[in-house]
Amino acid sequence: MDLKVFKFGGASVKNNEGVSNVVKILESHKEEKILTVVSATGKTTNALEEVVKSYFNQKGDADQLLQSIKDEHIKIMDGLGILNEESFADLSDTFVEIDWMIEDEVQDEFNYIYDQIVSVGELVSSKILYHKAVKEGLNVAWLDVRDIIITDNTYREAKVIWADTQARMDSKVIELLKIYDVVITQGFIGCSTENFNTTLGREGSDYSAGIFSYCLDAQSLSIWKDVPGILTADPRLFENVTKIDRLSYREAIEMTYFGAKVIHPKTIKPLQNKNIPLYVRPYNDPESMGTLITSDVDTVYPPVIVIEANQSLIHISTNDFSFVAEEHLSEIFAKLNHYRLKVNMMRNTAISFSVAVQNDQKKIAMFIKDLSDKYTIVKDDDLELITVRHYDDATVDRMKVGKIVLFEETIRQTVRMAVKDVPVVIRKEV
Ligand code: ADP
Ligand code: ASP
Ligand code: MG
Repeated sequence: MDLKVFKFGGASVKNNEGVSNVVKILESHKEEKILTVVSATGKTTNALEEVVKSYFNQKGDADQLLQSIKDEHIKIMDGLGILNEESFADLSDTFVEIDWMIEDEVQDEFNYIYDQIVSVGELVSSKILYHKAVKEGLNVAWLDVRDIIITDNTYREAKVIWADTQARMDSKVIELLKIYDVVITQGFIGCSTENFNTTLGREGSDYSAGIFSYCLDAQSLSIWKDVPGILTADPRLFENVTKIDRLSYREAIEMTYFGAKVIHPKTIKPLQNKNIPLYVRPYNDPESMGTLITSDVDTVYPPVIVIEANQSLIHISTNDFSFVAEEHLSEIFAKLNHYRLKVNMMRNTAISFSVAVQNDQKKIAMFIKDLSDKYTIVKDDDLELITVRHYDDATVDRMKVGKIVLFEETIRQTVRMAVKDVPVVIRKEV
């Protein structure tokens, strides 16, 4: 079956104009079969995280916070002209499980509760998109992704069980696509084998689209974003960025691995395995093909800058001055894994080992406490990791202006450094 997968992120459906635009894009592909993956609208996932925290800590305002999320969605539906008895009931039914959950006492662990609550964001955004697509006359079905993407029960970072997922794609999704031109489903969420909601990690909708593309042998995947394509740096942080027209899978994997926030790092591998082209395209200029990511790209890349802010550098040394050897490293890594601290950079000397991780104070404190009997641990906060791929000296020098470089390494075409702002002392008027 000739099929394309489209993925629309939160920014593309943040308001009624956005949802209408997505439906227009789908209409312009009327002759094709399109499996559409959608994220929660705008910043809904962040707002749902606040509901989770409020409920878990029994702050007393979880239902109010949830109500304002509902109101936002009703406003979008109203703006789209799709607010009626049926669509309202559909929306209310979707929220009802959470309504029940937050009325009850807290009985379960945080990560489980998180996934049960936060997953509603994608369920409701996909329903809104579906109702609008129906109104515009598209031959469209709404698909509950929890019937398709099966995962283990690592809540908040669930791992896909590929064989089960593939079997459901082959039976259910293929059958739907025989009947409907467009199938709308949710990114980010899945279902455990025990039938509970799971999530694939923040920003995981791109990955969901990669999973669908892989399992359905899609012709291509288009990820529609608020940028013209993949740029030489994040336009929120840098001026004068330029679009890269073609990238290899390998280059895209490296960029996202180093922290480029434009695509979820897990998205590329399933596509690469089946050689499925990936387009990163602007939703506000649907004629443009954006950036094309494929296998063999014969090009000279410009310097590409990736920034990971808010990092902590943890220095670990043995209390008895023994060398930090393999057994220590495996113990340290087991703990990093246990506390789900993702290592963004590491380095070792004879008696110490340093790792840069995202500054999550709670997790880091538990990690340090756990190792403090055997090791002396100090940490530096408020660091940035700067990666320059295909570097030239001028770009690297520009990155260092106003910064203290704590360490720097060069591996082939890539320079990586951990930096801190130079503290600025201002002379007093006397
Ligand atoms: P969505 O969730 O709507 O799919 P994201 O906000 O996750 O989209 O990703 C798009 C954002 O990624 C852009 O607005 C941009 O600020 C950021 N970004 C970071 N690095 C890059 C890059 N190299 N090229 C393009 N965009 C980038
Ligand atoms: N809605 C989820 C998030 O904001 C998943 C995604 O948008 O990719 O993290
Ligand atoms: Mg996103």
